[in-house]
Amino acid sequence: MKEILVLSGKGGTGKTSLASSFMYYAKSCIACDYDVDASNLPILLKPNKIEDYAFSAGETAYIDNESCIDCGVCAALCRFDAIISDPSYQVVPLSCEGCGFCAQVCPVQAVTMIARSSGRWFQALSHVGQPLFFAELRPGEENSGKLVAQVKSVARKFGTDCRMPLIISDGPPGIGCAVISSLVAVDLVILVAEPSLSGFHDLQRVSELMRMRGVKGGVIINKWDLNPSASHEIEAWAQQNNILFLGRVPFSERIAEMVAKAAIPGADPDIENLLRPIWENIQRLLVS
Ligand code: SF4
Ligand code: SF4
Repeated sequence: MKEILVLSGKGGTGKTSLASSFMYYAKSCIACDYDVDASNLPILLKPNKIEDYAFSAGETAYIDNESCIDCGVCAALCRFDAIISDPSYQVVPLSCEGCGFCAQVCPVQAVTMIARSSGRWFQALSHVGQPLFFAELRPGEENSGKLVAQVKSVARKFGTDCRMPLIISDGPPGIGCAVISSLVAVDLVILVAEPSLSGFHDLQRVSELMRMRGVKGGVIINKWDLNPSASHEIEAWAQQNNILFLGRVPFSERIAEMVAKAAIPGADPDIENLLRPIWENIQRLLVS
């Protein structure tokens, strides 16, 4: 089983539009959305059967006030000021880092560490019949990399059990933990760039991560005709850096219309004429 990861370094490049279209053309593949802060892929794939599972990463302290003798030691020693005494000693979950020190110093064992609910992950079936895995991190949680690893792990197990040949993943924006985690065990990265100064800068940063992980990649320029000179610059940069140029997509009102009605853009025949040759380039690169 191979995995293609679609990345962009920033949001708003049209990454999900392209990723969903490639999933549509691939037919026999598992679809994953690793943007656990704001998953958009399910909006386009419209899953019709969803099972959801709790995700826990780390622990939170809990004080049993029946046992607590109000000595105040835990509140005095917590480096994160996560314990208040209003009116009795209690932990503020959002401030607690789960270090467990309060449980160790409590003289009457009134503190226990409990699993912290950090989010949820989902297994579903898209409206075009593809298995879909995605997740939601709870607001304020910091374990995006671990949640991406969880989604990847269950998707890969499912794919192995069902003998699926391919996973296509819509990656998270940026270059943080979630992106690093999403790059694990990937065979090919598709970089989606927009032709602007900031788009080029973000593309270079995410391609550096890709290089550090030793994954091969190709680049697509989306809405290339909005800035032809920047597009040529990106193309030349890709050539100099051994990143295969997979194609360019012109600005299209039709793509925007398809996204506005929550449809997979590549399912439209006119858009398919633009994207199908790029998908064929991706397939060639995957097996080369
Ligand atoms: S687990 Fe650590 S951070 Fe949380 S309340 Fe106890 S000492 Fe503070
Ligand atoms: S250290 Fe234990 S007994 Fe003392 S205030 Fe904290 S929870 Fe209560």
